[in-house]
Amino acid sequence: MPRYDAVVVGGGHNGLVAALTLALHGARVALVEARDQLGGLSSDGLSLGVRYPRVAYALGLFPEGLARFLGVNLGAYTVLAEPSWVVVDASSGETIFRWWTSFDALMQEFVERGLPQSEARAFVSLLDSWRRCSGEVIFSVRPPSLEEASEVLSRCGGEQLGSVFRKRFEKGLGQLLPRDLWGLVTYPGYESEPGAASLLHIWNGGVWRQIPGGWAPLLLDLEEKARRSGVDIFKGLGPAGIMVKGERVKGVRIGKRVFEADRVIYSGSIVALPEALGDSKDVLGSEVLREIDRISRTSLVADRLNIFTSCKPEPFYRAGGRPSLVEVWGRGYWFEAAYPTLHPEGRDSLSRRHVVALTGLFGGADPYEILNAAGVSCVDRVESIDKHVLAMEFLNSSGNPNHVPLNDGRILDRRPFEGWSDYTTPVEGLYHGSASSHPGGQVSGVPGHNAAVRLLVDAGVKPRSPLAKI
Ligand SMILES: Cc1cc2nc3c(=O)[nH]c(=O)nc-3n(C[C@H](O)[C@H](O)[C@H](O)COP(=O)(O)OP(=O)(O)OC[C@H]3O[C@@H](n4cnc5c(N)ncnc54)[C@H](O)[C@@H]3O)c2cc1C
Repeated sequence: MPRYDAVVVGGGHNGLVAALTLALHGARVALVEARDQLGGLSSDGLSLGVRYPRVAYALGLFPEGLARFLGVNLGAYTVLAEPSWVVVDASSGETIFRWWTSFDALMQEFVERGLPQSEARAFVSLLDSWRRCSGEVIFSVRPPSLEEASEVLSRCGGEQLGSVFRKRFEKGLGQLLPRDLWGLVTYPGYESEPGAASLLHIWNGGVWRQIPGGWAPLLLDLEEKARRSGVDIFKGLGPAGIMVKGERVKGVRIGKRVFEADRVIYSGSIVALPEALGDSKDVLGSEVLREIDRISRTSLVADRLNIFTSCKPEPFYRAGGRPSLVEVWGRGYWFEAAYPTLHPEGRDSLSRRHVVALTGLFGGADPYEILNAAGVSCVDRVESIDKHVLAMEFLNSSGNPNHVPLNDGRILDRRPFEGWSDYTTPVEGLYHGSASSHPGGQVSGVPGHNAAVRLLVDAGVKPRSPLAKI
């Protein structure tokens, strides 16, 4: 095996972005993925003749600027419905809210839902400033503290933006919206977190694109770009072990294969890092190991079902044209439904089946009520992506969609742990760059990009990425 400048362990979308970013700077890179498919949680399944997004089902946070730097056109693989998503009431079937892609239309929607014009304008322009100013915070390879970030945002987008970022949601961002609409911009249980925890989920201004053709075409594009830039890709070999000697990384081992390198980016869930370090895991320190153990024992925070049907689904909300994402708010539960096969690109003419992706918190709701609220009948098969699947197939033993929660203060300079936020670890040459890292989860590519930039800076290479905030 040749000696590499860097090895990236984990071929989720962040690992791919990290490897490609390094290769675009001329580094000799290997990418090793345990599964025989790249993409991690953003990869496809194939069942009953239907290809479908298996875990993640929507794309919103991948910045256009990053896609441009990597040479991919996201618009070629995604579709945007108008409105991009809608919220419906489970019992009445009535529409509670439509999230339009244009800020003018969105403002009008708030007015129709009873917000005074001036407040609707203030809220929407706040989202606009956040979208405009967030790059300074999210691309930082030395993430700021909450206070520092809110100062940066105040300078860029005004005092109100800085203040709602820093203050608890219920005292800041939440004050700008009626309580029954809080669910539009935050998750249940996040009310006492800083507004930052909610805003970090919506630096796209709340607009989500769908991927009816699945993730494979986009991933293949990224994979081909990586290979052409010189990345050696190894997949399907099982979990790799990270080799450490005297608190310095030495490379990666899979069975008898050894990939020597002085720098390694670990791009799996941080919760699985001790396993990847094997006998060397104690270098992480007992406090971090205890913390990781605590996180890995938390339960799955999203219920996820893929429902295969032999009749066409009938979502509550039909705008004509492309189906929007439908978020259903019920008593004691909520979920989002995506209907990839209702898009022409998602329909395989050989398969008579449809798939509906449901993600949310089902609580104790009657399964028939959930199916009914999603407009689903003639069920052929139900696939549950539970904690076991996430742990065994995707090496994500916490089962958390973001690998590590975005609450409990685990954001910015405290993600995943204090002292680790700059993508480094206590092991010299070992970096982390995944949903566990700043700025957090979702399919954004930013943690992978930032970890690569951090590694380059340490190696004395001036990053060419125009997004890098060093
Ligand atoms: C139920 C659910 C729904 C979601 N829906 C959405 C959505 O609609 N939109 C969105 O943007 N985000 C969504 N997310 C979040 C999003 O999927 C993740 O945040 C994102 O995919 C994480 O990407 P990643 O590359 O950091 O890690 P992952 O996708 O977890 O990939 C990590 C990869 O590393 C590999 N790996 C780990 N350890 C090793 C090792 N030792 N050796 C070799 N390989 C290793 C794993 O096999 C895996 O392939 C969802 C998540 C969940 C759980």
